[in-house]
Amino acid sequence: MTSESGPRVVIVGAGFGGLNAARALAKAPVQITVIDRKNYHTFQPLLYQVATAGLSPGEIAAPIRSILRSHNNIEVLMAEVTGFDLGRRAVETPEGDVSYDYLVVAAGAAHSYFGHDDWERYAPGLKTIEDALEIRRRVLLAFELEERQAATGEAAKPLNFVVVGGGPTGVELAGTLAEISRHALAHEFRSIDPARTHILLLEGGPRLLPAYAEDLSGSAQEQLHRLGVEVRTSTTVTQIEPGAVYAGSTRLPATVVLWAAGVAASALGKSVGAPVDRAGRVLVQPDLSVPGHPEVFVIGDLAAVQDEHGKMLPGVAPVAIQQGRFVAKVIREELKSQARPARFHYWDKGSLATIGRAAAVAEFGRIHISGFVAWLSWLFVHILFLIGFRNRLLVFIQWAWSYVTYERGARLITGSTYLPGWSSDQQVSGETTEPGPQEIHTGPAK
Ligand SMILES: Cc1cc2nc3c(=O)[nH]c(=O)nc-3n(C[C@H](O)[C@H](O)[C@H](O)COP(=O)(O)OP(=O)(O)OC[C@H]3O[C@@H](n4cnc5c(N)ncnc54)[C@H](O)[C@@H]3O)c2cc1C
Repeated sequence: MTSESGPRVVIVGAGFGGLNAARALAKAPVQITVIDRKNYHTFQPLLYQVATAGLSPGEIAAPIRSILRSHNNIEVLMAEVTGFDLGRRAVETPEGDVSYDYLVVAAGAAHSYFGHDDWERYAPGLKTIEDALEIRRRVLLAFELEERQAATGEAAKPLNFVVVGGGPTGVELAGTLAEISRHALAHEFRSIDPARTHILLLEGGPRLLPAYAEDLSGSAQEQLHRLGVEVRTSTTVTQIEPGAVYAGSTRLPATVVLWAAGVAASALGKSVGAPVDRAGRVLVQPDLSVPGHPEVFVIGDLAAVQDEHGKMLPGVAPVAIQQGRFVAKVIREELKSQARPARFHYWDKGSLATIGRAAAVAEFGRIHISGFVAWLSWLFVHILFLIGFRNRLLVFIQWAWSYVTYERGARLITGSTYLPGWSSDQQVSGETTEPGPQEIHTGPAK
């Protein structure tokens, strides 16, 4: 660090919120410390492409240090933040405390299994690069194990992939899995037919993409149907075990189960000492500060913020980005001895959800678009917001290539070759009805 003057702003988390706060403060008379447990920023909207072998991790992530390298007043520390002492104005890490004058907490969210944390082993969620690689491993391994089994004498049976949660992540995972099995792998196996893979998307609520207008939910379901995905709405998952998912008393065979049903705020929210909502999000003031601590801000997925009409802001990147810029402005104004902006306003530019190749839905106010045009808008926005010119170019080339060829180039199985529940009877037996344990709601993620 070269600048040693001005108050110290500590930013916890270099996701969309934290990075934008840091960048927007880069020219202010402050010293900034960005702390993240990882040394890289992940572009989460493209994680599903890593999980489905379309992109490699390095194409959707960038080192935090390199993103911020041109700002001399910003230092980056790789550390796990374990808590805060707001009285002493200190951020706690196992290696020691980091003191601050202003604190911005932007630690994001994690999966929630609604009290069934044991399900995580059988049904990984998608939040980090590690999660994406684990999903990729399981999906590709399932095809390999089935081919090997069929090649050594057992009759080839279709695989069953079950995706739990019909929000944007569940929809994009199910659609892309269908694409892989119908197209990318079509001519590469000799003893099995990947196109026969059964892809089932389960949603606890009455429709997919509940945050979108009803006509777009219907369109998403229709587009998934065309891709060959079976969608069951109003279906609550009650139990997950190796090789099967239960919906009440119905046992659904599952070679691979993916979890896209629940999100909980980072546990760090509770250490701020302010009230939290049911999802663990901090109930912040209208200016995103913590009650009683105007020098502490919580932003992004970790903050519970309502708009002017009392509607909760969604856990999406634009909210985190705008909040990061807003708290930077609050700090800058205060340092200039000017009145702090009193309230954060979210400018909603619209929502986009991709389903698969040339399939998507988009909602821009009253304008609702489906299919190819929505998909093009999705592609454009996501490539535009990827960090780093090199990444944008690489992703664009990869996409163009796989659009023309249907190829998915990152099909590497790394790590273990163990697939929970892999045994021929579990994978191939049909749907059966058995008594199922207590029901829980499987709402969508994001
Ligand atoms: C699969 C998926 C797809 C998505 N698709 C979209 C989409 O298409 N469009 C959209 O707008 N939004 C999408 N989102 C949501 C969007 O990514 C989030 O809303 C956004 O990332 C929130 O930003 P954030 O800064 O609050 O948290 P994050 O971006 O999650 O960043 C949190 C950071 O904090 C760090 N951290 C956490 N805990 C600690 C700790 N204890 N110590 C140190 N560091 C810590 C993490 O390493 C991370 O870098 C998607 C999310 C997922 C998971």
